[in-house]
Amino acid sequence: MTRKEMKNVTLTAQAGLTTQQATERLTQHGANELVAAKKPVLWRQVVRHLSDVSSMVLLFAVGLASYMALFQGGGWTKSIVIGSILVINVVIGMYQEASAEKALAALQSMSLPTTTVRREDIAQEIKAKDIVPGDLVLLKAGDQVPADGIVLESTNLSVDEAVLTGESVPVTKEKLTALDKVGDDQQVFSGTAVTAGTAVMQVVTTGMTTELGQIAGLLNKTKKRATPLQGRLNRLSGWLTTFAVIGGLAIFALSIWMQNQGLADSLMIGISLAVAAVPETLPIIVTISLAHGVKRMAKRNAIMRRVNAVETIGGVDVIASDKTGTLTQNKMTITRYWTPGDQPTAAEKMTPAGKQLMRYLGLATNAEIKMANGEEKTVGDPTELAIVRWLGQHDLSRTQFEQQAPRLAEDPFDSTKKTMATVHRLKDGQQLVIVKGAFDRLPVTWTAAEQAAAKQVHDEFGRNALRVLSVGYKVVGATATIDWDVLSTGLTFAGLVGIIDPPRPEVIPAIREAKRAGIKPVMITGDHMVTAEAIAKEIGLLTPGQLVMSGDELRTLTDEELTAQIENIAVYARVSPTDKIRIVQAWQKLGKTVAMTGDGVNDAPALKAADVGIAMGITGTEVSKGAADMVLTDDNFATIIAAVREGRTVYQNILKAVEFLVGVNFAQIFLMVGAVLMGWGAPLLAEQLLLINVLADGIPGFYISREPGEKEAMAQPPVANDESLFARGLGGRLAVRAVTFTGLTLGIYALGRFSLSAGQATVGMTMVFLVLAMGSMIDIYAIKDRQPLTLASLKRNPVLNGAMLLAVGLVLLIAVVPGIRDTFGLVALPAVAWLVVIPAVFVPTLVLEVAKRWQRRSTQQMVGELDLD
Ligand code: ATP
Repeated sequence: MTRKEMKNVTLTAQAGLTTQQATERLTQHGANELVAAKKPVLWRQVVRHLSDVSSMVLLFAVGLASYMALFQGGGWTKSIVIGSILVINVVIGMYQEASAEKALAALQSMSLPTTTVRREDIAQEIKAKDIVPGDLVLLKAGDQVPADGIVLESTNLSVDEAVLTGESVPVTKEKLTALDKVGDDQQVFSGTAVTAGTAVMQVVTTGMTTELGQIAGLLNKTKKRATPLQGRLNRLSGWLTTFAVIGGLAIFALSIWMQNQGLADSLMIGISLAVAAVPETLPIIVTISLAHGVKRMAKRNAIMRRVNAVETIGGVDVIASDKTGTLTQNKMTITRYWTPGDQPTAAEKMTPAGKQLMRYLGLATNAEIKMANGEEKTVGDPTELAIVRWLGQHDLSRTQFEQQAPRLAEDPFDSTKKTMATVHRLKDGQQLVIVKGAFDRLPVTWTAAEQAAAKQVHDEFGRNALRVLSVGYKVVGATATIDWDVLSTGLTFAGLVGIIDPPRPEVIPAIREAKRAGIKPVMITGDHMVTAEAIAKEIGLLTPGQLVMSGDELRTLTDEELTAQIENIAVYARVSPTDKIRIVQAWQKLGKTVAMTGDGVNDAPALKAADVGIAMGITGTEVSKGAADMVLTDDNFATIIAAVREGRTVYQNILKAVEFLVGVNFAQIFLMVGAVLMGWGAPLLAEQLLLINVLADGIPGFYISREPGEKEAMAQPPVANDESLFARGLGGRLAVRAVTFTGLTLGIYALGRFSLSAGQATVGMTMVFLVLAMGSMIDIYAIKDRQPLTLASLKRNPVLNGAMLLAVGLVLLIAVVPGIRDTFGLVALPAVAWLVVIPAVFVPTLVLEVAKRWQRRSTQQMVGELDLD
């Protein structure tokens, strides 16, 4: 928003824009969004794909083949075949990348923020992207400012502008007095957070023309950071590439040394082997798996705001969750009450002192329940709605009380001080001060006996899992000034109410599942210890040996002391949002990955500090959503556990892709080097190797990302940050697969060349081609499922089956159709050779299945032995 733009502003009428004006301006100014960097044009994408390692090597191979065609008279077939493989490689790469991007774009549209505007004199919630210059936006604490604008009305508006200025102390904003006097104090900026107060702002600029848009323009140019897994895989790819190059060089040197091939041919084989052994599809499989995870999580009500979080949530060790609304239903009902001198009474019964208590509660409440078209509409927080409902049960209402004692002032509730106060004018002119809130925060003056009696009831309510709300009051003179520090002291205790907030039924199995998955669930609540403890026990979160700690106790501990005890604490009661960061950091000091939930503005720092910050979609503020990595559209703890399961599935699918892509690459190197050492020459031609690589890696391998999760995904501990990719049996399985393929293909080659034909290398070659190509595709079925293969698991991934049919069909087509067959240096096989090839194709799958069962049995035995200990 520049000075010039400010000068040209005309004030919008109080009723806001008309719908027609809004539509016109949207077309004129475009959507209010930060446009992502433009996608590079097609030819640039092609050039980028051509410049990756394997394409460069393929290009070199085409050059070499053409050189051989020109100067050695070898014909152009090789150049054409390798050229086509290069094209297919680039096309598959571009297709895969486009699918990943499409999935990610869908992700962005899911987490669009909303905002309240006044148009045609009606306040309405719209998507922030539909805001236009001139719109009147209604801001309140917790909102994210959706565009740049000027403040027309303000009640104690303060805004955190850290996104723009780096300064996290909120600044106060005032309303505009005259257009030519507008300064920073009267302007608010897109992306900043309203920390307190309310305001009406008129939008001046939107989208990329806002201050944030200018920065976003710069951000677009910075590169995205790789996820930890991507980092590890990049390192693995680096190692494999080195290994591939060494393999390529070895085969080149061996071919020349053993003199079975000329220089150019040897070079060609070396290059092809190097290309075949580089797992170039791996990075894209990671992206596409993450993108699929995002989609599946969205279906389960978890919207990911950062793709990396898909991976992180799968590996969390600790989930620290708010109680109210996440672990409980947030449907609060007052069930009992108590006034001094009486016995605790059921909420349905009414005593005179009880009615007085209701009056105080009603006066100090802001919530409302209205009937609109036969439907109940509620406004306000659930604790206060419980009060309104209770009044309704006894045919009383807030309005009725307010007519007799109109409200003069309010000190709103906040979760740090945990009380709220109001002042009312009584009929006789005096002022009535009411404070309601947490029992231990209410500044009441009483005798030790009075206090002990009240505490006893409070604790009894708490032990019954009731949240307790206490009320105190005092009457001051007609002229007493409103100074909250003075007014809210020395109160008389009016009584307390017990509010039930039942746990969500699905939370109990979710907590059990979390524990089974090696995750520690932790409850964080503003409620009292006794209540928190009772609920935590009820839902199975607090088990013997685990402790409940209060916020006061927490604050007496140093960071080191907290870290030393943190593993034993399952419940934190009476904490405020600032305590949450310390809890996150203490766990992180132990090297744990922490997920933390939050809904308020002051939860934002803790959400940012956590490895996975989780905001509430229904009750959360826009600011908390902006700071979070994941938003729960149903505010439900069980959804977090569902997301963990999805995250783990993504991780496992990526590992399965590694297993699928890497094992055979090793086998190819061993096969080539082994055959040459035996003096047989190269058992596969360059173009055959390349073809196997493109078809098997590119087609079925790609669809492994769509595998549904393993049943046992939640029966294992989380993956540690530094856990090797080869842990949990992957290294062993890779070795089994590489050895099987090497042995099998060498054997098949010898059989084809020396027994089934009269020393024809091409027969051996064709058989190896078929077994390696089809065998390495089909055994994806043994890899994609950690459980023994069944008919059901064969049917579970239809897209993969389709891709498999296509790939196997292509291989057969190439090996059988005469014209194509010759192009790839293959020959027609005698029937007996087919009788060997067909069963041989299934050998690797069988070996893997047997190894799988054996591995399962030995782990089960191990577990059994551990159990005995
Ligand atoms: P959680 O942290 O589990 O979500 P919470 O957010 O409800 O719990 P707070 O809002 O900090 O926790 O509430 C803590 C205490 O403050 C309650 O036990 C209650 O005594 C008091 N309290 C809650 N809401 C109000 C309110 N609207 N007015 C006055 N006191 C309240």
